[in-house]
Amino acid sequence: MTPYDDSPVQATSTQPSLIDGFGRAVTYLRVSVTDRCDLRCVYCMAEHMTFLPKAEVLSLEELDRLASTFVDLGVRKLRLTGGEPLVRKGIMTLVERLSRHLRSGALDELTLTTNATQLAQHAADLARLGVARINVSLDTLKPDLFRALTRGGDLAKVLAGIEAAQAAGLRVKINAVALKRDNAGELAELVTWAHRIGCDMTLIETMPLGEIDEDRTDQYLSLQDVRRDFSSFWTLTDLAYATGGPARYVRVEETGGRLGFITPLSHNFCEACNRVRLTCTGTLHTCLGRDDASDLRAVLRGGASDGELRAAIFAAIGAKPQGHDFHIDAARPAVARHMSTTGG
Ligand code: SAM
Ligand code: SF4
Repeated sequence: MTPYDDSPVQATSTQPSLIDGFGRAVTYLRVSVTDRCDLRCVYCMAEHMTFLPKAEVLSLEELDRLASTFVDLGVRKLRLTGGEPLVRKGIMTLVERLSRHLRSGALDELTLTTNATQLAQHAADLARLGVARINVSLDTLKPDLFRALTRGGDLAKVLAGIEAAQAAGLRVKINAVALKRDNAGELAELVTWAHRIGCDMTLIETMPLGEIDEDRTDQYLSLQDVRRDFSSFWTLTDLAYATGGPARYVRVEETGGRLGFITPLSHNFCEACNRVRLTCTGTLHTCLGRDDASDLRAVLRGGASDGELRAAIFAAIGAKPQGHDFHIDAARPAVARHMSTTGG
């Protein structure tokens, strides 16, 4: 298949599937389409980041070819992330290309994770192209705190983005990182707000990824403690709903909404892991918490045939580690790369 072959991927009864060495089927690919971002969240990036030269970043055609090969091999869900996916030039061309797999039935879901600063401009097109739901990252509803946490962001743009997405018919899930110093006292309010506007909400523990400017142990807040606190005024009912990821869901009976807790540090979720991550430079990480990496860009730019590319992907999946290696109290991050490189 050429990079711009628009024909649907043929679903056959012998559709190959990506099974790792521990018997887990890999059906979910996250693709970071850029390392750049219009915000500088304190837990994610250093204030002064050096971004990648353009030549190192995969072109839209290369991203399409790689992602489409994964779909060909049985991936059913694609999530575009970053950096901020909506700041990547031509991003909607890529969404449009990838949406052919939704139409062919090869893909169940095409989605993205965004900071929503530019969502208002793109929401209608995303919905038109078959994106049904998106994740929006938002840690506070206080404009000043938002500006401080993102080093300059404008909360009003994010709220306008969420509104536009809902108006376009997209389902929105709000993700917030729980930060001991900054939003700990506001989390219940954030959940109440999200549920009131009809959004699911997920809280995330900080993960030790990449060197940032602050001490992470200062900001680490255990979601077990948050859950205990919520239980003192809310009724939380465990839900069977599972995504194969690290989130555990409850229903908040008082709001009627769904609430997820992503606790990579206090729970081991690796046994059900169905996902791998592709960076914008074509590096495949089969585990968020390890430094394992396969350079698919070298394979691609070396002129690999479709068969050779598939073989490289199979080899990488076969070597997917059993589990991660995070420790919040370690002096250095367990993994040197930033979340903005891996894509969360
Ligand atoms: N820019 C987009 C956004 O913010 O939604 C997509 C990329 S961002 C890296 C993806 C997610 O990772 C965001 O929800 C962000 O809050 C989260 N994140 C970034 N750094 C993190 C860290 N050190 N620990 C936990 N979550 C982190
Ligand atoms: Fe940008 Fe998302 Fe990282 Fe914030 S979390 S700096 S919005 S990539």
